[in-house]
Amino acid sequence: MSEQVLEVTGLDVRYGDAQALWDVTLSVGTGETVCVVGPNGAGKSTLVNAVAGIHPASGGRISVAGADTTALAGHRVCAHGVAIVPEGRRIFPRMTVFDNLILGAYRREARREHRTTLATVYDMFPRLAERAGQLAGSLSGGEQQMVAIGRALMARPRLLLLDEPSLGLAPVRVDEVYEAIERIAAGGVSVVVVEQDVERALAIADRAYLLGEGRVVTSGPAAQLRQSPEVRRSVLGL
Ligand code: ATP
Repeated sequence: MSEQVLEVTGLDVRYGDAQALWDVTLSVGTGETVCVVGPNGAGKSTLVNAVAGIHPASGGRISVAGADTTALAGHRVCAHGVAIVPEGRRIFPRMTVFDNLILGAYRREARREHRTTLATVYDMFPRLAERAGQLAGSLSGGEQQMVAIGRALMARPRLLLLDEPSLGLAPVRVDEVYEAIERIAAGGVSVVVVEQDVERALAIADRAYLLGEGRVVTSGPAAQLRQSPEVRRSVLGL
């Protein structure tokens, strides 16, 4: 269990002239759940988007299970076993739930296994099985989040990145989504979760990182971070 699924070292990310991440170093071990918290604009989405190859790094190194993915585009990073559930879900509203899910299985190995994976996703989210033929845009926000998570799982990732999975959901739906994340992690997938709902994310995470103004402010075991003065001040408002 000592292998690092993700190693980010000295990561810098820029948007034009503006630098959003500075010298960020973070790691995720096999089977670990890591959460990234921080105030608005701290760089949390930028970090997961850089890891997923959606936004390029301008300095530093990203490696996935030992392979250097720093300069790779999103579909190539996906081939190394990284899947993202983006902020705002980004499902295809005019396609059926089934078609949205199948889109996630576009890698050759994932395509080969798609029936088995789909059964796992339907087992995790029975509501998606019931609504497989329905247009995804007609589902509730919570169900759409399930589609987004299910689509990412269809790629059979070793590392799942979730950007604000609870955003805009009713509390009971947040419970469902977090139960699913815990099941995914228990199944051996390493998880990085970026959250505004800091208490919720810290409760399921093994370790946590606090970002502030594009830098890692502090990191450590999740239970320990909840007690840290920086976290209490900057994101828990205590
Ligand atoms: P939030 O919780 O509000 O989503 P965040 O911690 O995810 O915040 P990011 O969205 O990563 O933060 O933003 C980090 C910084 O980068 C902010 O200063 C933001 O304004 C800037 N930024 C983000 N996206 C872009 C973009 N496409 N172009 C220019 N600047 C951007």
